[in-house]
Formats: sequence, C-alpha cells, structure tokens
Amino acid sequence: MSFPIVRHRRLRQSAGIRGMVRETVLDVNDFVQPIFVAHGSGIKREINSMPGVYHFSLDTLEEEVKDIVDLGIPAVLLFGIPESKDSVGSSAYDENGIVQQATRKIKELYPDLLVVADTCLCEFTDHGHCGMVHTFERDGHVCGDVLNDESLELLVRTAVSQAQAGADIIAPSNMMDGFVHAIRTGLDEAGFSHIPIMSYSVKYASAFYGPFREAADSAPQFGDRKTYQMDPANVREALREAESDVLEGADMLMVKPAMAFLDIVRLLRDQFDLPIVAYNVSGEYSMVKAAAQQGWISERAIVTEILLGMKRAGADIIITYFAKDAARWLREGK
Ligand SMILES: [Zn+2]
Repeated sequence: MSFPIVRHRRLRQSAGIRGMVRETVLDVNDFVQPIFVAHGSGIKREINSMPGVYHFSLDTLEEEVKDIVDLGIPAVLLFGIPESKDSVGSSAYDENGIVQQATRKIKELYPDLLVVADTCLCEFTDHGHCGMVHTFERDGHVCGDVLNDESLELLVRTAVSQAQAGADIIAPSNMMDGFVHAIRTGLDEAGFSHIPIMSYSVKYASAFYGPFREAADSAPQFGDRKTYQMDPANVREALREAESDVLEGADMLMVKPAMAFLDIVRLLRDQFDLPIVAYNVSGEYSMVKAAAQQGWISERAIVTEILLGMKRAGADIIITYFAKDAARWLREGK
C-alpha cells in the first residue's frame, strides 16, 4: 500500500507563511504587572530572590507606573507591605493602608490604568495566614485553626476599602469557603456592584510561592495553608472550586500557579465561559532569572515560550513579573 507524503513543511517554509497560520499570539493587552508597595520614601529595594522586582515607596512608584503605562500594559496587581502587622491584619482594611494609598495615587496619575487589588490578609497578619486564626499549643508547638466565617467579614471590609480607594477589579486570593459570595454581597451593599471580581478560584498549596513570601514577608509563622489551598494532586477539586465561585458571582477565574498547572487552565477554559487568568508566580519567575543569570538559557526565548504556553492552554489574562520585559520584546519584534 502506498500513500502520498503529507507536506507539513509547506506551511513552515517562510516567516510570512508561519505568521499567517500562527494559532496563538501574545499581546500586551494579555498582561498584568504585579507591584509591591511599601511605606517610606525614596525606596526602590530589589527583592533578593526575584532580581528585577522591587519594593517601591509611593514616590518612587510614580516612575515605575509611568514605564508600565508607556509600554501599553493595561493593568497592575497591587501587593502591600504594611508598617506593622497584627493578628487580625487591620492595615489590610485601613483607608490609609499602603494598598489604598497606592491605589489612590495611581488612579490620580493614570485614571486609565486598571488597578487590580489583591484582597487577602496574609501580608498584614503577624502569623502570616490569610484569615483570622485560633491558636493553641500541642506538644509544645504553637498550632492554629483558620477561622473561616470570621475571616470573611474582614475580607469584605478589605475589598470595600480597596474599591473606595479606586480599585477597578477586586482579586480575592484567600480561598476561604464562601469568599466570593461574601465579597460580592459586601461590594454590592457598599455601592460597588459595577466592580468585577477576579477570583483566585484554583489556588494550589504550592512551593512555587517561596520567593513571593520573601517579597511580601508573609510566610506563615506556624502550620501551612493546606487547609484552605488545594492539593497539587487534584483536578476534580479544581472544578468544584471554580464551579462554586461562578455560582457565587465571580467574573474571572484564576489558576495559580500556572506552569505546572496548564492542564487546569485548559480544563477551566473548556468548562466555563468566563475569562481565565493564569498567574505566572514568583518561583516560576525566579527559576528563569537564576538560569538566565548563569547563562544557561536564553531568557527572552524561554519567557516568550512560557507565556505563549499559558495563552495556548486557554488563559485570556496572564499575571506575570515578566510583563514589562514581554511588552518591550513584543514592541521590538514589531
Ligand atoms: Zn493570603
């Protein structure tokens, strides 16, 4: 039996033809740049484990945000480093908290730049958990239970204060049961029914968050987050989490981390009609940076391939510490 040779290479023979048949294209409108804001002035402090990522004070933030706007990146995701922490994370919902101040400042300077506010308590609690905890001693160790329903009230206060400061999108990352419903109700009651919720629907208990915990000084002081974040071994659980967020009123669904969980991005893309967000997290960033600094990989080619992979898997939006670099490369490539 004979059959003709299938000439796949006809469509690969020139850059022009390859461009015409390309299925997935990265665009600057896909990106969200995370930013860390701290109290003080004149601060631009590089994070050890994340070369090229900094803590900014409100004054130095101006220049950074200008760069982001000039590059055409449509949105930033704000994380705050508070002056002081306590057991209930009170600076998370203080109207003069660092995230609220930074939001007001950015919206004043660049009303069109979208501010996504991360809504959680772990950067603001002295124990580093995402909600209120009940602590007790067992065999000489401090242990704690995260109090789900008590935490919801504080998260709602945080979300409302962020919206009042001018945040365009609320991104609750805490994974308490019922968090989307609670925040949706709280926002609606406070007159913010127009503000969308980007829910961290599928957030795995992952080792890829290590560098972020240095950046935000938010490592749990006892225990871990496995009672409210997901087991990396599970897929069906991701569907249950996303399903409940959709029912509770989420407007966008996030998968975090992204690289080791692209099957989950694709699954959510196929199962739901909401925009899907992939979070290219700190550990994914640091691995690439470290290898690039050694000269072992080509940073630009690797990053482009990683971001393209996320988009191909079905992400509409990519939160990435590489947003500025990628935006620059896309511009150079044109
Ligand atoms: Zn948290």
